[in-house]
Amino acid sequence: MKAEIIAVGTELLLGQITNTNAQYLSRQFAGMGIDLYYQSVVGDNIERIKEVLRLSSRRADIVVLTGGLGPTQDDVTKEALAEFIGSSLHIDRMAMDNIDRFFMDRGREMTENNKRQALTIDGGTPLPNETGLAVGNAITYEDTHYIVLPGPPRELVPMFEKQAVPWLMQHVLTKELPLYSKMLKFAGIGESALDDRLSDLITVQTDPTIALYAKEGEVTVRLSTKAPSEREAMEKLDRLEKQIKDIVPDHLYANEDVPIEKVIVDIMTERGLTLSAAESCTGGLVMDTITSIPGSATVLLGGIVCYTNEIKHKLVHVPQRLLEGENAPGAVSIEVAEVLAEQVRMVADSDFGLSVTGVAGPGETEHKPVGLVYIGLSERGKKTEVYELHLRGDRDMVRIRATKALLYHLWRRLQAT
Ligand code: ATP
Repeated sequence: MKAEIIAVGTELLLGQITNTNAQYLSRQFAGMGIDLYYQSVVGDNIERIKEVLRLSSRRADIVVLTGGLGPTQDDVTKEALAEFIGSSLHIDRMAMDNIDRFFMDRGREMTENNKRQALTIDGGTPLPNETGLAVGNAITYEDTHYIVLPGPPRELVPMFEKQAVPWLMQHVLTKELPLYSKMLKFAGIGESALDDRLSDLITVQTDPTIALYAKEGEVTVRLSTKAPSEREAMEKLDRLEKQIKDIVPDHLYANEDVPIEKVIVDIMTERGLTLSAAESCTGGLVMDTITSIPGSATVLLGGIVCYTNEIKHKLVHVPQRLLEGENAPGAVSIEVAEVLAEQVRMVADSDFGLSVTGVAGPGETEHKPVGLVYIGLSERGKKTEVYELHLRGDRDMVRIRATKALLYHLWRRLQAT
């Protein structure tokens, strides 16, 4: 089974927007074990869209078109597909009701051109749009299955997952063996570094397939395979998981789709361990991340956001000599990260004390560069460790990455004990 993506939009050709829809859809198809050999981008022009369709229809079983479903004259994707397959368009009643309701609720008058968003191809299946107005379409013509999706990602993603995938499952993938997947979650390693470490495996691996996805501070690897039974599928997936674990044992923290903070809270709850935190540049993000997990109340005793030097000194007892003065290492230093982690742990009487101090940017602090962050990990009865990080990205990225790095080191420590 082969799929192909055609992204429609002159904005894409002019470089005004990035084709994230193609990236998203490619990953989805990789995860479903469907091959994708080509992606195209074409402007809002009926003849040129039809030209690309001629090519795609010859080499793919599934062709996904994105964008160009809006109300304006240059939104011509459905017209182009209808002409290409020798069909016509009509107004879909439900989609039209949705558009009428939208304008009525807002007390606005609907302009005539909005009706274009309710157009659907004769003989096709309209795909309802839960987050916008333009209806999508799915239609099979001469053994090729066409899916038409709106351009805005916040409309495309739910329509693909809730409408298009079930349609594909029912109309296209029924004769295929069922697909089984397993998610592996990694921390403390970037997507490209992980890709590099696994490259030998990825190169030779065709079944199960391996697909990498990155989110801030975490990488997910999806292993997928088709098999006649779940037992056979799981045997293949478990074998591959073991091979991967042997290559990167220090970074694989879960074999299901959970964040690292959930794994930490589960382990600590089971062992009856507690923690506290003193946060400077993350402003409470570490504690916020942990408290997002239900059940964290028995683990996180509390902590402090000690942003200024005064608070670091007054409330967490960081000595003035470390913070200010000609020879002081300064707030962003190994020494201060160490004291913060130890002091907060002692005050809270917790098993672990965490600390973060760094320069989130955009400007330098204490002549130290943006992205320089120290994270401290203090454990009852053990030597406190401080890690120096050099993080890339804007202020938010630095704060998220510092938080995830600290959680990663805490997880490592929990693995070791
Ligand atoms: P609308 O009803 O908003 O006009 P549409 O289906 O006609 O939606 P387009 O007009 O092609 O879609 O694009 C609308 C917006 O959707 C673009 O300005 C852009 O923000 C986003 N978009 C379109 N195509 C893509 C794409 N391939 N990748 C990421 N974003 C996209």
